[in-house]
Amino acid sequence: MPLTELIIDGFKSFAEKTTVHFGSGITGIVGPNGSGKSNITEAIRWAMGESRAKTLRGNNMKDIIFAGSELRKPLNRAEVTLVFDNKKRELNFDQDQVSITRRLLRSGDSEYLINNQNVRLKDVRELFLDSGISQNSLAIISQGRVDQILNSRPEERREIFEEAAGVLHFKQQKEVAQSQLNKTNDNLIRINDLVKELE
Ligand code: ATP
Repeated sequence: MPLTELIIDGFKSFAEKTTVHFGSGITGIVGPNGSGKSNITEAIRWAMGESRAKTLRGNNMKDIIFAGSELRKPLNRAEVTLVFDNKKRELNFDQDQVSITRRLLRSGDSEYLINNQNVRLKDVRELFLDSGISQNSLAIISQGRVDQILNSRPEERREIFEEAAGVLHFKQQKEVAQSQLNKTNDNLIRINDLVKELE
């Protein structure tokens, strides 16, 4: 599904609210070293629910908030919005346009919104599951990632194929169901023990 707009406000080097419009076809982003090209892809990753600060080249998630420069004071919050064209319903959401917003305050408070409604991180992750652009997919390849994929363990590489084939979603649901089943079995054993004690 086409990403049509990216709105970055207070994320890393983007102290000013900046809107990037993506047309059809290929978009190239060019600029001198250190001008913020990688920060743009990281903003996309972050809005989609990235929770590992290291993946965003930071030690702490708050490192993504504009930290100040010679001319500007640091900011207290970062916000990124992604707008997708969902006319073909490639995202499991019944609207022609889907916007995902993530906000983080320096106090540590954070928020996710889908079409301006507050949601949980889980909802954002589920929206992207099997869309081919979720957290670990190869839709976004950052510097050094190609080497990392080539050197990854077979099980890790298998996950990449599973996501592309659309089975990861079911695998995760199976794991949740399995864990509930295990808990129920444990409870049954406990009940049987109690019944035996009472007999
Ligand atoms: P290259 O072409 O060398 O890969 P690039 O254009 O991809 O560079 P980025 O790596 O996206 O550039 O941006 C790096 C810049 O972002 C640095 O100048 C860094 O100081 C700035 N930066 C990163 N985090 C923050 C932050 N929290 N606050 C302010 N600036 C930041």
